[in-house]
Amino acid sequence: MKKITKQFLIAFLFFLMFASILSFITLPAERPAAVNVTTLLAQIDEEKIESITVRENQLDITLVGGAKQVLEKESSESLSTLLKNYNVNPDKLKKIAIDVKSESGVKFWAVAILPFLIPFLFIFGFFWFMMRQAQGANNKAMSFGQSRAREFNPNKKLKITFNDVAGVKEAKKELVEVVDFLKNPKKFLALGAKIPKGVLLLGAPGTGKTLLAKAVAGEANVPFFSISGSEFVEMFVGVGASRVRDLFNKAKKNAPCIVFIDEIDAVGRQRGAGLGGSHDEREQTLNQILVEMDGFDPRTNVIIMAATNRPDVLDSALLRPGRFDRRVTLDMPDINDREEILKVHSKEKPLAKNISLRKVAERTPGFSGADLSNLLNEAAILAALENKKEVSEYHILHSIDKVLLGPERRSYILNEKEKEITAYHEAGHALVAHELPHTDPVSKISIVARGSAAGFTLKLPTEDRRLHSRSEFLEDLAVMLAGQVAERIVFNEVTTGAQSDLRQATTLAKKLITEYGMSEKMGLRTFGEREELIFLGKEIHEQRDYSEKTAEEIDKEIHRLTDEAAVLAEKIIKEKRRYLDKIVIALKAKETIETDEFNALFADKE
Ligand code: ADP
Ligand code: ZN
Repeated sequence: MKKITKQFLIAFLFFLMFASILSFITLPAERPAAVNVTTLLAQIDEEKIESITVRENQLDITLVGGAKQVLEKESSESLSTLLKNYNVNPDKLKKIAIDVKSESGVKFWAVAILPFLIPFLFIFGFFWFMMRQAQGANNKAMSFGQSRAREFNPNKKLKITFNDVAGVKEAKKELVEVVDFLKNPKKFLALGAKIPKGVLLLGAPGTGKTLLAKAVAGEANVPFFSISGSEFVEMFVGVGASRVRDLFNKAKKNAPCIVFIDEIDAVGRQRGAGLGGSHDEREQTLNQILVEMDGFDPRTNVIIMAATNRPDVLDSALLRPGRFDRRVTLDMPDINDREEILKVHSKEKPLAKNISLRKVAERTPGFSGADLSNLLNEAAILAALENKKEVSEYHILHSIDKVLLGPERRSYILNEKEKEITAYHEAGHALVAHELPHTDPVSKISIVARGSAAGFTLKLPTEDRRLHSRSEFLEDLAVMLAGQVAERIVFNEVTTGAQSDLRQATTLAKKLITEYGMSEKMGLRTFGEREELIFLGKEIHEQRDYSEKTAEEIDKEIHRLTDEAAVLAEKIIKEKRRYLDKIVIALKAKETIETDEFNALFADKE
């Protein structure tokens, strides 16, 4: 809005300048010849005059030929007196059309004053403009300590309710209570119950924490203020604390309401854990949040909801009774939840009749609510790009890959040799995954580049599982290394294509030993303290709580695991080389093969 007025002002100033310049240039050019009274009288006598227009102090004379001339006169003297004084022949006068125009006051004054006024207007305009700018800058400085909370008013049409949040039944059940606090505080106060002030929402990114907080506000029909924890943290010490104060003041004025602090871990980490300057600021901000939460009257009906995906790093002071003592956990959606979420998000999208959302849910294990919503959006965009009226199954399946692996890069063209190597690499992964009993089935293999990978093999679990066994992990290791093993067996040479496979495998092997206690040799313990050190925003994981010698043993054990996995992969690939070649032929022909086609390749096995 401000910008528009500014632009308008500039345009207006230009216009003024232009107009005044123009008027100076054009005025003299049109000025008719000036005559004196004697000439006029002679012309009247010769009947050369067509008409006379009388103005205040000027006569506009039109001659018979159409030529114009002007005569200045005293403004006090009328034309008739003038002519009478000169004894003009009244008969000749009758032939002349005489027209009297009294000049309007405004125009008269405008003409008289404008030339003086315009420069002043310019100067004033200029100063005003400068002042406003300066003031703007000032305002910005003043508002630095204000919270930048965004407000959502539930009265608007965009109201979000629990119906918009699919799955997360437990969380919703707990939050119904909070809605009740906001709606009928008296009921609770009458019984002497203290209304809780803080609710902590725990869950991985995209599981709907923000959505749920908005839904609580929507259900209770109260305003919703949202701010992100990272917005409190600025360069200058003290700003965060002052923003917290401002936020709480705003909230108190609007009670009952909900204040939502996203990413509270940005300010609420354990105090004293930081290095460098930023932690002072965080501590102050956190202290201020605690002070505000303790300070406000329990009858003030403001509920603070905070979200984090890392409850382990939060300062214990935040979790004490009277602060964020309610904790609501949002899990990653399971297959039923995913179906529900897909239903919610497909409401406004015309889906083809034959799409089974159940099937889509089956194909998307590990997707969060945000991923699923993104998936349907991508599918709708794809359908729109193809000028379709409906979103079809093809669009959705295609988008699953896109959300999972990044967009296809068909322009990233492999030459024949690279294509061959990539095909063998992926076929290696797929074959070993197919042959080992505990791995997830292969759902897709492709040699179309996506993201940074030249190709990919996608395995999808048949069901959601929370526990994973040692044999699964060991087989996974073999599958990860199978790509490079296949390259080595076939070409007697390895390429850089296995870079991320190797990293993944190393990480997994290390976790088996140091976190899951799955290595017999290293025993049932964890290695490394997972303490968070915050240094310039980066986290340095892991502190050693074991000796140099143990570190060496861990290294050896990692080696052993990966070596064994590679041997296993090699054995399978050598034994089943026939199938490896079959997969490669299919891949080179079609670039991408799906589950059914893949399984068909093994049909002659029996
Ligand atoms: P978080 O705050 O946990 O990172 P959001 O609440 O911002 O996640 O979720 C992002 C988007 O994902 C939401 O706007 C919504 O469209 C979608 N979404 C996530 N979880 C769900 C759910 N349970 N039901 C419906 N939509 C969901
Ligand atoms: Zn690979």
